Amino acid sequence: MTRAVVVGSGVFGASVARELIRRGFDVTVVEQYAPGNVRSGSGGDTRLLRFAHGANEWYSRLARRGLELWHELEEESGERLFEPIGIAWFDSVDGAFSRASEATLGRLGIPCERMTPEEARRLFPSLGGDDLRSVLFEPGAGVLYARQATRALARGLPLEHGRATPEQPPEADIVVWACGSWLPSLFPTLVEQRISRRDVFFFGAGGDWSGTPGFCDYDSAYYGHGELGGLGVKVAPDVAGDEVEPDTLDRTPDPAKLELARAYMRRRFPSLADAPVVGARVCQYDLTPDAHFLVARHPERPSWWLVGGGSGHGFKHGPALGEYVADCVEGLREPEPFHALGPREPGHGSLRTMATA
Ligand SMILES: Cc1cc2nc3c(=O)[nH]c(=O)nc-3n(C[C@H](O)[C@H](O)[C@H](O)COP(=O)(O)OP(=O)(O)OC[C@H]3O[C@@H](n4cnc5c(N)ncnc54)[C@H](O)[C@@H]3O)c2cc1C
Repeated sequence: MTRAVVVGSGVFGASVARELIRRGFDVTVVEQYAPGNVRSGSGGDTRLLRFAHGANEWYSRLARRGLELWHELEEESGERLFEPIGIAWFDSVDGAFSRASEATLGRLGIPCERMTPEEARRLFPSLGGDDLRSVLFEPGAGVLYARQATRALARGLPLEHGRATPEQPPEADIVVWACGSWLPSLFPTLVEQRISRRDVFFFGAGGDWSGTPGFCDYDSAYYGHGELGGLGVKVAPDVAGDEVEPDTLDRTPDPAKLELARAYMRRRFPSLADAPVVGARVCQYDLTPDAHFLVARHPERPSWWLVGGGSGHGFKHGPALGEYVADCVEGLREPEPFHALGPREPGHGSLRTMATA
């Protein structure tokens, strides 16, 4: 039996480990903290699952497969992990991303609906902004309870506590390094990623905000969702963040980012202008220069795989990415060229909700 060690039990590592076990590998997962810990990218309360990725079909297909597998995990675990509340894309500047997405989703047969601002007002108790030109609504999209979903993925996996390093690597036929924001410091000469701080806020809202859709403002770089699971209405400014170190980052929310979130709420959801803050999280993106993921063999250790670079949009894809990585490990396919090590063309590749770091 092929022995594999997966380092990291975030959504990528746990998904790869589950898939390798399903395919008959003898797998151990090595994790320095706990699955779904709040220092990890996968440890947030919620993550959006959208199919729209501009003109890029590859990620739209991956998200669709991801959702099928999340539903399977819901059945297996008996837990509700996904809320099918839909996602609204607010077009305020040129709308190029949502137009490209609309065409791609149409080709793939993934439902989406173009709305005028007036039509979109039925989706939210209040929706404001003179800048709003139109809205692309994805009714089949929604939100995953991220930390809970990561813990459900990791449940039952053979887990060892500890910090693996390339200098003291695990003994195995295959090692998958799925270390999220820790990957660049483990492989500094190979992995070019920026570890960038993000502040996320939850605001207390009335019951009429329950189950309202997720939203993305691609051009002004905000995203979030309505009241969900008692967490409150989420608003996250997706603006460039300081470069941080994930172990030692002080996760006290930044008042300047709160002011940005508040100003956005005042403009976009006027009835929540004075809503109290009921929660906040500080986390970090592991950003590749072009927002494409990293799935590559180590150039000197062909039995090692480097998997990461979720770039602020990896969560939804986790279980589907697990299948893809397992195919690569088994030699059933080669990784996509856009997931390779080496220089990347800077730019967000229309994959994320905004362009800057
Ligand atoms: C604020 C924020 C909002 C986001 N929003 C979305 C969204 O709406 N939709 C979406 O799809 N994605 C979103 N993402 C991105 C998504 O959450 C990440 O891409 C994804 O969770 C990364 O998963 P991962 O498994 O690669 O890394 P992580 O979740 O960080 O997991 C890595 C794990 O490896 C462990 N580890 C690291 N090094 C070692 C070592 N040497 N030895 C042992 N263990 C180790 C860590 O402790 C950690 O548990 C968001 C991310 C953030 C931060």
